[in-house]
Amino acid sequence: MAEGDTILRAARRLGAVLTGETVAASAPNPRGRAAGIERLDGRRLERVESHGKNLLLGFGDLTLHSHMGMNGSWHVYPRGGRWRKPRGAAWAVLAGEAWEAVQFGGPTLRLIPASRLARDPQLARLGPDILAPELDLDAIVRALRADPARGLGDALLDQTLVAGIGNIFKSEACFAAGLDPWRSIGDLGDEDLRAVLEAARGQMLEAVASGRHAYAVYRARRPCPACGGRIASRGQGDANRTTYWCPDCQL
Ligand SMILES: [Zn+2]
Repeated sequence: MAEGDTILRAARRLGAVLTGETVAASAPNPRGRAAGIERLDGRRLERVESHGKNLLLGFGDLTLHSHMGMNGSWHVYPRGGRWRKPRGAAWAVLAGEAWEAVQFGGPTLRLIPASRLARDPQLARLGPDILAPELDLDAIVRALRADPARGLGDALLDQTLVAGIGNIFKSEACFAAGLDPWRSIGDLGDEDLRAVLEAARGQMLEAVASGRHAYAVYRARRPCPACGGRIASRGQGDANRTTYWCPDCQL
């Protein structure tokens, strides 16, 4: 699952090699043709941005919106180089002078007229990006408090409250903050909520820098690194996303 750190890395990588370039756009897979990717052919890529789990590529009056979900990805290759996936699987190919960005799979790949970006239903309701350069933690704490009965782990995944945290960093941030992800928001103090948000942000920024994820509890592959006990796991929230936690260390 691509969380905010993966998207920010993709945005930086893609932006570094293609920003300012006029691209040759193609869509080897019919899904990309249906999204109108070929309309980008001959346009200049002006900016690449990430917001939470969303990647936005600005081409003048058209923006390409990509959400990778569980199985989507962007690859960057030297132009004409070998790909790690079959050509026919590519939804979008954006080729610049020396590099090409190739997109495979995912729930969302679509063009949005720039004039409609601000009121786009999928994008306008996103909360603040946990990886934004300047983050108002108190505003997110207030947003989280809107539903005091909601479990902490479930609330952290709600992209309308805070964008970018996925299932990995939900569990890892709760562990780092020493908080039981099943506690309700109303049962937690502002300091607790700030601590878990700061933990998520810190861990995700580390992952952006290193390109690696170091798991303490996620997927419960090892005993708890703090107490050696067994890591518990159970589906949480309406989407039943698995939460991992140490029942002894997280209170
Ligand atoms: Zn433990």
